[in-house]
Amino acid sequence: MVSYKELGLVNTAIKGGYAIPAFNFNNMEQLQAIIKASAETKSPVILQVSKGARNYANQTLLRYMAQGAVEYAKELGWEHPQICLHLDHGDSFELCKSCVDFGFSSVMIDASSLPYEENIALTKKVVDYAHQYDVTVEAELGVLAGVEDEVSSAVSHYTKPEEVVDFATRTGCDSLAISIGTSHGAYKFTPEQCTRDPKTGKLVPPPLAFDVLDAIMEQLPGFPIVLHGSSSVPQEYVDMINQYGGKLPDAVGIPEEQLRKAAKSAVCKINIDSDSRLAFTAAVRKVFAEKPGEFDPRKYCGPARDLMEELYKHKIINVLGSDGKAE
Ligand SMILES: [Zn+2]
Repeated sequence: MVSYKELGLVNTAIKGGYAIPAFNFNNMEQLQAIIKASAETKSPVILQVSKGARNYANQTLLRYMAQGAVEYAKELGWEHPQICLHLDHGDSFELCKSCVDFGFSSVMIDASSLPYEENIALTKKVVDYAHQYDVTVEAELGVLAGVEDEVSSAVSHYTKPEEVVDFATRTGCDSLAISIGTSHGAYKFTPEQCTRDPKTGKLVPPPLAFDVLDAIMEQLPGFPIVLHGSSSVPQEYVDMINQYGGKLPDAVGIPEEQLRKAAKSAVCKINIDSDSRLAFTAAVRKVFAEKPGEFDPRKYCGPARDLMEELYKHKIINVLGSDGKAE
């Protein structure tokens, strides 16, 4: 058993008024970009690891990478880094326990696909274990559409506001992921779900269900709410990918003005994964197309890292408002 505190990490006990970015990472370049962006803007940050990332990168290596990230942040001049290592979409008690034992400071148990009572029972079991070690637990009520690593669903079911008090009270969870129309992946909506801007021909996605969010906040005043699937799928990256030989027709995300509005409410953790995947891929494709003779990975992973860093800073400052919250 390793306590996350020994690794210099913090848990996700969070305040309102802005949202903390939860950026997924799978490799060194992504981690460097996240830490540089967070250190420069003095933003608390949640390093998010999915089950797929854990299998991809190896759990031991991941733990030391997170510990290294804290030291790297200090080296960059960030005196008191607030970095959390969080399990994204834990699907079993065993996985969550293993992450707690391995130095994660926060875990998500996603039992949202189970019947309500089973969701409560499994979530409570994880909470009872994690809280012994001061590890915070995110739970989920409602179902998001889209595909993300092992998680996928064809349709979304909004969170039922009438269930949230009972759920939060009986499970003891520290934060709650809800479904109000965000979605996993780079194809959040089908063209049929969208309208088309008559001027540009671009897809305009349906708005988030802010009425559901308001009803949840009324039921659970001040309770930390989490939004998954909140990439905005920047058109400039999609265009770059398509220009340099990729094929991402009609990729569409959540408009940033909607996320900005959510970040100012009780939503205090916003998950962004697809956008950094797009930035990485766009930068790599550009180098491959422009310099076909290049075969030094640093020459294409480097620009990918720079573009991701730019993206993370933009999210922190212009969308989530978390800059300067962790001096
Ligand atoms: Zn998610």
